[in-house]
Amino acid sequence: MAWDFETDPEFQKKLDWIEDFMREEVEPLSQLGLAVRGSLGREKFIKPLQEKVKEQGLWACHLGPELGGQGYGQLKLGLMNEKLGRNSLAPTVFGCQAPDTGNAEIIAHYGTDKQKEKYLWPLLNGDIRSAFSMSEPTGGSDPLTFKTRAVLDGDEWVINGEKWFSTNARYSQVLVLYAITDPDAKDPYRRTSIFLVPTDTPGVEIIRNVGVGTGEIGGGSEGYVRYNNVRVPYDALLGERGAAFVIAQVRLGGGRVHHAMRTVGACKHALDLMCRRAVSRTTRDGKLSDLQMVQEQIADSWIAVEQFRLLVLRTAWLIDKHKDYNLVRKDIAAIKVAMPKVYNDVATKAAHLHGALGVSNEMPFMHMVTSSLVMGIADGPTEVHKVTLAKQVLKDYRADNDLFPNYHIPRLKEAAEEKYATELKELREAYKAQGAERAKASENA
Ligand SMILES: Cc1cc2nc3c(=O)[nH]c(=O)nc-3n(C[C@H](O)[C@H](O)[C@H](O)COP(=O)(O)OP(=O)(O)OC[C@H]3O[C@@H](n4cnc5c(N)ncnc54)[C@H](O)[C@@H]3O)c2cc1C
Repeated sequence: MAWDFETDPEFQKKLDWIEDFMREEVEPLSQLGLAVRGSLGREKFIKPLQEKVKEQGLWACHLGPELGGQGYGQLKLGLMNEKLGRNSLAPTVFGCQAPDTGNAEIIAHYGTDKQKEKYLWPLLNGDIRSAFSMSEPTGGSDPLTFKTRAVLDGDEWVINGEKWFSTNARYSQVLVLYAITDPDAKDPYRRTSIFLVPTDTPGVEIIRNVGVGTGEIGGGSEGYVRYNNVRVPYDALLGERGAAFVIAQVRLGGGRVHHAMRTVGACKHALDLMCRRAVSRTTRDGKLSDLQMVQEQIADSWIAVEQFRLLVLRTAWLIDKHKDYNLVRKDIAAIKVAMPKVYNDVATKAAHLHGALGVSNEMPFMHMVTSSLVMGIADGPTEVHKVTLAKQVLKDYRADNDLFPNYHIPRLKEAAEEKYATELKELREAYKAQGAERAKASENA
């Protein structure tokens, strides 16, 4: 019998290990803040944890075994990511942090042996970091508006342009760059190519490190990057010339699913904190959890999170089944749309229930609310994904060309009467005969 909602006992043991490891090691370490994020901090604190994860066979689980992953598939990854999603340090500890995951995925798919040697294996080992440099300050939602150019000069490409929100550019060794190479190509989706540009190439300038939410201007990790006559060899091209759009979709498809999986974990965490507060805080009418309006918030949040979780797990299952993100586009768009809404709702309610403490910088909720807004923008805004979803849903429908639709009740009634004409005639005759018999019987009585 399919439709089984249980985790197999062997994998449950892995999930239990992750749960303990998160509680005992990752969550306490994340409280040290920036101290663990720099290169020495990573060596001292994060590397030893990464080794423990590798020993457990839980490293880089988004990848197949040929790339050093475990080949568990997306469904199991979804269950794992639920646990990692409650802490922002966890993906780094488990070798599945964005944007490196998506970048490694496309280098694995499209890279030459030389490119894999130089970037893929070090990325998978956590030895180097990367950034994805696609969005531009003039607008990120529509790749057809991008302006960054790569022009061939002999056997080198010369790149000029500006990129916006290239996450982790400041920490990266390689920039995965999206640039126009064939402006005159008839198909607008064949005009751009992807390049692997070492971050220390002359001409790469990080104008500013933009931050998300509050904090010091320039102290963030979203790179505003300018490419000033950056020269790279011809073979810096990743995949075919003109194939950037297709390659980027492979990358973004996986990335969106993995974000959604982790967001399930973040939502469950917010709900957990909400419940802990509700049973602990008292008013003169009893505990917050005794108040019906609080109970309603908890019930609504639980339903929303569980619905979202099931949609994410089902999408993961579909990816495992079809092994092609394109065939699951509708479902991926749906979870991308659902994610910011559910997360925002539950994080806002959790903050609200904690009162002033909830909106303070001594609690995680404001960070969660900001992250929920990010989820509605990064990897494309909600509106664009709603359009994708609606188009996918509508593609199976054909127009009714009559004034009244095919499902107009008088028309359905007429069709049914025609279909069952013989039986209806027989029925009418039977009732007639029955009526006559009854009349006769009452006459005789
Ligand atoms: C935290 C974070 C990390 C990011 N990391 C990266 C990264 O590593 N690499 C990278 O290349 N980019 C990255 N981005 C950029 C991201 O992909 C873009 O922000 C996104 O595509 C939207 O582009 P934009 O910000 O220019 O908004 P715009 O394109 O200006 O859109 C703004 C708003 O306009 C509306 N809108 C736009 N288009 C439509 C439409 N077709 N229909 C209806 N409404 C529309 C929506 O409300 C949208 O939110 C990141 C963004 C964030 C917030």
